[in-house]
Amino acid sequence: NLSDKLDKALHTLRGHGQITEINVAETTKEVRRALLDADVNFRIAKEFTNKVKEKALGQNVLTALQPGQLMVKIVKDELTELMGGETEGINLSGTPSVILMSGLQGSGKTTFSGKLANFLKTKKTKKPLLVACDVYRPAAIDQLHVVGEQIGVEVYSDRDEKNPVKIAQAGIAKAKSEGYNVVIIDTAGRLAVDTEMMNEISEIHKAIQPQETLFVVDSMTGQDAVNTAKAFNDILNFDGVILTKLDGDTRGGAAISIKSVVDKPIKFIGTGEKMEAIDVFHPSRMAERILGMGDVISLVERAQEQFDEEEARKIQKKIAKNKFGFDDFLSQIQQIKKMGNIKDLMGMIPGAGKALKGLDIDDDAFKHIEAIIHSMTPDERSNPSKLNVSRKKRIAKGSGREVQEVNQLLKQFDQMSKMMKMMQGGGGKKMMQMMGN
Ligand code: GDP
Ligand code: MG
Repeated sequence: NLSDKLDKALHTLRGHGQITEINVAETTKEVRRALLDADVNFRIAKEFTNKVKEKALGQNVLTALQPGQLMVKIVKDELTELMGGETEGINLSGTPSVILMSGLQGSGKTTFSGKLANFLKTKKTKKPLLVACDVYRPAAIDQLHVVGEQIGVEVYSDRDEKNPVKIAQAGIAKAKSEGYNVVIIDTAGRLAVDTEMMNEISEIHKAIQPQETLFVVDSMTGQDAVNTAKAFNDILNFDGVILTKLDGDTRGGAAISIKSVVDKPIKFIGTGEKMEAIDVFHPSRMAERILGMGDVISLVERAQEQFDEEEARKIQKKIAKNKFGFDDFLSQIQQIKKMGNIKDLMGMIPGAGKALKGLDIDDDAFKHIEAIIHSMTPDERSNPSKLNVSRKKRIAKGSGREVQEVNQLLKQFDQMSKMMKMMQGGGGKKMMQMMGN
């Protein structure tokens, strides 16, 4: 599967000292294969990996990132870019703003119409009206009414009118006279692209001139989704794409292909049948999903951001002079804590999420250690060798811990000091990498 393949691809890079032509070629080959597996169009996958290759070879490996991580970052950034970079909202400027749904039958138009109405309703200033323009099946009108009732949104329909253009216009007129400021028009689709459906949606589009025309597509349809998107875009020049059914194990490769072919932003995703299962589309999250690699990248970035180089250098000097004390230890703990909650951090490691379930990790694993150090005098912190039995007892009492724990901490501290002295040359970065691993 995709994530296994990428894992393998990226594995070949781990441990290598620099990004070279050879390991980049190896990795991009695997990335390309992975994209093809995720239903990304061949040409797009190829273009993509070429771009990644170019970027990777131009990079210097100066940062705390190892080449493998850097490569992951490049792949992810490029994928994000490919899917549209920043998140785009929908245009709600009209009075009322008219939103037209288009797409094949079963893509999720009716469901998404309800989800969007519900989503907008929670913004206190929006009062949406749903309009039922699927005139072919009586059940389609019923379906929209059921949805409307569920979310408490008014639905306009006319069972005697067979012309969807007229229904749409009547719906908009009702909105104007009754103070609805958003009109969502649900339309009929067919199982495949055909002239009749295209003519109909095109006529509705021309007649009502919506502020926003959305193309709804089932993300499980893979390559077919691209052709459908292209056909609809040729006729409607739509404003945005809605990717539905991204729950389950759809990989979302369709997102990349569609975006590349029609160059329109993906605006929302559907993640279930319930009305609440709607999310604003985030290109970076989708990139992660497609890569199937958890949140490693945020972890790496956060580590980089938070680790204070200056502090690291200071500590390094102290180690060299044998002056590393408990105060420095404490400041290191602060550094680690700045990176976030331990459980969150571990959750970002792929595969660890599952392992962590049911495991009870203290949110503040350093609490006791900090308490003990705080009970030491400044002199004791700089000169741990002064800690005799009576001092240890006093510290234990002061921190509310057992003497045993104080002893344990001293032992750990001793080991750590030795270890740090050993890797002195590498300084803070090496230390960070060790913690990362
Ligand atoms: P339409 O023909 O385009 O109006 O599609 P519908 O809204 O009737 O949806 C077709 C089917 O897909 C229905 O059974 C929906 O419950 C289901 N559906 C729609 N959106 C989603 C989604 O995001 N996730 C899942 N799992 N099912 C969905
Ligand atoms: Mg429908």
